[in-house]
Amino acid sequence: MDLRSQYPFWLLKDGMISSFPSLEENMETEVVIMGAGITGALMAYHLGKAGHKVMVVDRRHPGMGSTSASTGLLQYEIDVPLRKLIGLVGEEAAVRSYALCVQAIDSLHTIIKKTGAKVDFEYKPSFQYASSRWHVTDLRKEYELRRRHRLSDIEWLEADDIKKKFGFKAPAGVLSAEGAQVNAYKLSHCLLEYCTRNFGLTVFDTTEIEKWSESKSGVELKTTERKVIRAKKLIVCAGYESGNYLNKKVEIRNSTYAIISKPLPGDQFWYKDSLIWETAVPYLYMRSTLDHRLLVGGRDDSFYNPDKRDRRLDRKALELENDFKKKFPAIPFQTDFAWAGTFCGTKDGLPYIGTPSPFSNTYFALGFGGNGITFSLMASEIIRDLLESKRNSDASLFSFDRS
Ligand SMILES: Cc1cc2nc3c(=O)[nH]c(=O)nc-3n(C[C@H](O)[C@H](O)[C@H](O)COP(=O)(O)OP(=O)(O)OC[C@H]3O[C@@H](n4cnc5c(N)ncnc54)[C@H](O)[C@@H]3O)c2cc1C
Repeated sequence: MDLRSQYPFWLLKDGMISSFPSLEENMETEVVIMGAGITGALMAYHLGKAGHKVMVVDRRHPGMGSTSASTGLLQYEIDVPLRKLIGLVGEEAAVRSYALCVQAIDSLHTIIKKTGAKVDFEYKPSFQYASSRWHVTDLRKEYELRRRHRLSDIEWLEADDIKKKFGFKAPAGVLSAEGAQVNAYKLSHCLLEYCTRNFGLTVFDTTEIEKWSESKSGVELKTTERKVIRAKKLIVCAGYESGNYLNKKVEIRNSTYAIISKPLPGDQFWYKDSLIWETAVPYLYMRSTLDHRLLVGGRDDSFYNPDKRDRRLDRKALELENDFKKKFPAIPFQTDFAWAGTFCGTKDGLPYIGTPSPFSNTYFALGFGGNGITFSLMASEIIRDLLESKRNSDASLFSFDRS
């Protein structure tokens, strides 16, 4: 699968941070993780910390799948608004899913502090504005619901407040204290390095798993170079390519686009340099970076066709730049880099985590959706518990057999 256009910003900025050998002999381990993106790296961290013997294999270099294209917004707001999610999965499950995303942001921060990873993590408020006056009533209901469930410190902003705090026109908006941003590509590398140093993790890159089979006692994986890995458990962290191994389609495939400006002068672009996004679907979003650039993303297309996606990139970059300039005509935004990526969501906006039929020793960690990174964190905690036969009451929220 072609996950992204050639040059996402983080890949150019940070380069190939670390590389590992390819697998050249048959191996045995306790747990093998397929995929060295942010999901595989967080999984390796949680299992390594819990004392498991873990190996990670990736057909690319670490982080070079979707993770290198990620724009790194960490939000507790799921792609499906709370009021709609309640209709789909019930109030308790919907509120718990939102609350888990709040927790996941703090858990990521804790991991980053513990491992000493320098990955541009910053807490930021999250501001969602109504894209038109027709959206105000629904956004108000969303605000009331989130406030009632105390998901975050939250504030309703009218048009005047928005003009004062953010400098652009919108009929209303919701400002939440919870939110953050991170360099997900660098974080994957830092975690893998930390785990190799501290937990004895072994990593093999440019090693592709062609197939695997399960027995009562474990799994046997075969690589395209005809090497065999035997393990008790397999965890598939293969991102949007994981669908190849499922007998049921769970993902909705889209194409998405992002641009980043040249570094800009000044201290602060708008109120606390919040993450900004809107109620329209697909939504426009923006954030700042530590080196004082502005990142703008959105203009999604509802197709998976990498050639068509990449052909549209120049036009999409221009459209995103114009979207930004319409909101902030005084900021001299000049696009420095633009990239496109495949992006998978799910019908209810929730991830798929667990062991789907017919597997028994294979777990899947599929953090599909705009909260991919926070979902990956949740998946790594849930799968660690399942693997250790510990009860995890959140597992059922994201199971493959939810209706
Ligand atoms: C443009 C863009 C912007 C985004 N912005 C955000 C955002 O702001 N916030 C957010 O939370 N999420 C965002 N996401 C989503 C987020 O990036 C993803 O959820 C996340 O990167 C997925 O990580 P992963 O490790 O599961 O997948 P990947 O990074 O794709 O890693 C999976 C790895 O598995 C490997 N693999 C696959 N098959 C095999 C095999 N057979 N054998 C060996 N290895 C294999 C691949 O090579 C790959 O490296 C964005 C995504 C895109 C594309």
